Amino acid sequence: MTSDASLLLLLLIAVILLAVSLGFAIPIGVSASHRGMNSIGWAALAFFTWIVGLVLFLLNLQPIITDTPCPACGNMIPIDHVFCPFCGHRG
Ligand SMILES: [Zn+2]
Repeated sequence: MTSDASLLLLLLIAVILLAVSLGFAIPIGVSASHRGMNSIGWAALAFFTWIVGLVLFLLNLQPIITDTPCPACGNMIPIDHVFCPFCGHRG
């Protein structure tokens, strides 16, 4: 039956398209979350627009967040530190 074959082909194409979409969406979403950007929004944009979303993402890149201001003394501390090295405040 040719209809079965074309259905299988359509399914295969759909799976490939989905894989490509995820291939754009996942790394962009992860990268966006590391940069304090809207990871869900960027992942969704990349999922639907592929290379267009990637280009827009690269044009809007924010630096990776490695430091955060201490809520007690205001000094910049690495984001993975539990205690502020300046005043000892527990973040
Ligand atoms: Zn501090």
